Amino acid sequence: MNLTAERWLQGICSRGGQGAVSVAELGDANWLDIYSPRPDFRGALYQFLIGLLQIAYAPRDVKEWRDRYNRPPTHEELQAAFEPFKHAFLLENDGPAFMQDLALPDEVNQLPVLELLIDAGSSSNRYFNKPASDHGLCEACFTQALLTLQINAPSGGRGVRTSLRGGGPLTTLLLPADENATLWQKLWLNVIPLDALDHPPVKELSDVLPWLAPTRTSDDKSGQDTPPESVHPLQAYWSMPRRIRLDASTVDQGPCAVCAATNVRLIRHYRTRHGGTNYTGTWVHPLTPYSLDAKGEKPPISSKGHQAGRGYRDWLGLVLGNDTHQPDAAKVVSHFTTKVRSPQARLWCFGFSMSNMKSLCWYDSTLPVHVIESDVLRPFTKTVKQLLDSAEEMASTLHRQVKAAWFRRPGDAGNEPAVPQSFWQGSEAIFYRLLDELAVLDFDSKAKLAPIYRRWLLETRRLMLDLFDHWVLSSPFEHQDMQRVIKARAALTRDLNSGKTLKPLWEVVNRHHKEPA
Ligand SMILES: [Zn+2]
Repeated sequence: MNLTAERWLQGICSRGGQGAVSVAELGDANWLDIYSPRPDFRGALYQFLIGLLQIAYAPRDVKEWRDRYNRPPTHEELQAAFEPFKHAFLLENDGPAFMQDLALPDEVNQLPVLELLIDAGSSSNRYFNKPASDHGLCEACFTQALLTLQINAPSGGRGVRTSLRGGGPLTTLLLPADENATLWQKLWLNVIPLDALDHPPVKELSDVLPWLAPTRTSDDKSGQDTPPESVHPLQAYWSMPRRIRLDASTVDQGPCAVCAATNVRLIRHYRTRHGGTNYTGTWVHPLTPYSLDAKGEKPPISSKGHQAGRGYRDWLGLVLGNDTHQPDAAKVVSHFTTKVRSPQARLWCFGFSMSNMKSLCWYDSTLPVHVIESDVLRPFTKTVKQLLDSAEEMASTLHRQVKAAWFRRPGDAGNEPAVPQSFWQGSEAIFYRLLDELAVLDFDSKAKLAPIYRRWLLETRRLMLDLFDHWVLSSPFEHQDMQRVIKARAALTRDLNSGKTLKPLWEVVNRHHKEPA
């Protein structure tokens, strides 16, 4: 199967239903989305298609980017763009094969293909189908499993390398806010113009697509590290930390264990060995946010998948970046909010939460994106930071006072994470509504902030008291101590008025807010 020529993808059609689609047909306005049987596969397919467009069809600058956003390429144009890369995208070949090791030695392990699934080692099976280990995968599912593992690879024991972004990275992709946007628009929003990437020219294609050359192995004395300078920064999209090769010797026919296609060619095993490419140094993947070391001494650290499950807590860092660079927004996002700026977009955040090689959860969420004029960016981010800090304080106050009402010795009781989480969930809509207002504010006087702060403080106060009552009344009645409850509720009210991060907001409100006559 050639991944640049055949219709191996499933598209979701504007007329409803699904159909087979090839990468050369991505510009066809009939396709609204990509379908995949697993959410982690779908996230990986998006990155595959974005990476392919990035290496084969990148625009020169924002002007060309916009032209192509509005006038998608024809089938012929994309086919011509992918032609020089065609030889690198064969799933099976005597020579280079997609994301597989070119020169795997004979003495390697043979493993069932289901070991490629990142949740295979997980004891929790809440998120994915988990077929029996002797099942096989169709060619399309094998490709997606291989791709998903290579770009998200968790740690796996000695000499087994993690992905270029570490184990279980967070990916953040832009999506058009328009729900009727085409697949092309969804992908193209994430392709970065050449002048913004400012990369050196590609000398060898194998510097970008590592499977075209023998692997830069890392397991013996002659093993080596692979910092970005040693290959090409575009390899970030095509990283290959695992040495894997499809094993054709056990291929037969049957039903696919993941997509349930019947009577298809089934791949049952792959061969593998430790000591794959060891990505070190200052790699920065354009689709992932990174935290920077304050002193600039340590390499950037990628955000991890669990951050997609933290609601609006990390909104500022993921969308606009924090002053502290904890984290900085992904390159694709910062380029969009500063240079591209339209159309209206959302941010799709997803990734695995991993505990070493064990997957705990798959997170998948979307956040609103606001493009802010540069002259008000500072006061805007400062204000949003104040709201987020106050939310952080309220969540922990609720946690503390609910425990104080529940337990005689709250200090000895463990964490009750559902309590602060209920605040983050309950206040999300309030926060986003105020964010909409702040995004169009001119910030020329503090008085304009007063009504916004006031609504935030009053609405979250109501929420806090409701949640306190809900949690406290939900404890078994015989354990309730009314005196303790009243004391804790009074402390909660006091904290809402005079907490460290809340007090300054109240001061602005009290100084500037005038009730309408
Ligand atoms: Zn399948």
